[in-house]
Amino acid sequence: MTNCLFCKIAAGQIPSKKAYEDANAYAFHDINPQAPTHILIIPKQHIGSINDVTDAHEGVLGHLFTVARGLAQDQGLADDGYRLVVNTGANAGQTVFHIHMHLIGGRGMGWPPG
Ligand code: 5GP
Ligand code: ZN
Repeated sequence: MTNCLFCKIAAGQIPSKKAYEDANAYAFHDINPQAPTHILIIPKQHIGSINDVTDAHEGVLGHLFTVARGLAQDQGLADDGYRLVVNTGANAGQTVFHIHMHLIGGRGMGWPPG
């Protein structure tokens, strides 16, 4: 999508601190980290939010979990634990409407989230 921040980041048109990349996924460090590790994992394909997901997206979105597992291991988070978050819509505080998975770790976290 032409005017999407995360499409531009995935295409390298806007700089980011890359954590992982393959043909279908891109991961980069959040500009405003909420924990010692805070990485955003996105599909290269533009999908606005979970509200826009269809059966056709299952492969590319399921793949994000494999990427998350690898990054969690790389970052040394696997043993102590981490959180994967997909904010959706206004009540959840979604600010960028290109679907993304937050990988957050490196500190203890409370539940329920704010
Ligand atoms: P959301 O609130 O939509 O779930 O998360 C959007 C995330 O994107 C926020 O954590 C925010 O800090 C991050 N973010 C917004 N703009 C940029 C950017 O230009 N670069 C990077 N690396 N992260 C961004
Ligand atoms: Zn996009």
